[in-house]
Amino acid sequence: MAESSALPLVELAEQFAKLPGIGMKTAQRLSFFVMSMTESEAKQFADAIIKAHSTVHSCKVCQNLTDRSVCPICDDLSRDRSTICVVESPKDVTAFERTKEYKGVYHVLHGLISPIDNITPDKLRIKELLSRISEGNVKEVIMATNPTVEGEATAMYISKLLKPLGVKVTRLAFGLPVGAILEYADEVTLFKALENRNEI
Ligand SMILES: [Zn+2]
Repeated sequence: MAESSALPLVELAEQFAKLPGIGMKTAQRLSFFVMSMTESEAKQFADAIIKAHSTVHSCKVCQNLTDRSVCPICDDLSRDRSTICVVESPKDVTAFERTKEYKGVYHVLHGLISPIDNITPDKLRIKELLSRISEGNVKEVIMATNPTVEGEATAMYISKLLKPLGVKVTRLAFGLPVGAILEYADEVTLFKALENRNEI
């Protein structure tokens, strides 16, 4: 930002620039936009960030983000609890829910194993997954991580842990190019990947 800009505006732009996909130029534009808001709009905006942060946490069953103790999907008695779809992040749950075809439940890992980034298995919600499976009602676990190096490594790591527990482990059949991100896949592609899943 130009040196002539007021310091609070520079600081605001620096905060926007921390958001994914926001470069410094866009961050500056957003911070100027904030100045065009009324004081009450600016307060609503700031309060929404604080409120989301203080009230949203992980569902105690599937680890997806929710403002309840158990999320609406885990709470829905019509969902098939014997099938768990394991995903990297809450965004992926949204992607699968868009297909409207998947009737099982989810487990959100909150990341993928990546030694380069110092993300080891203990940093993911794998223990929580194992403890759900040890309760004994799960028949199939679908490894629905992205077909990237980290996604594949994580799927393999978890499937090795699950095999001795006698649960069927499957992997999405990606007609998607390697590296494609679930979040951006259209509903039909994602549904096909789910429908044609293979046992691993
Ligand atoms: Zn849940």
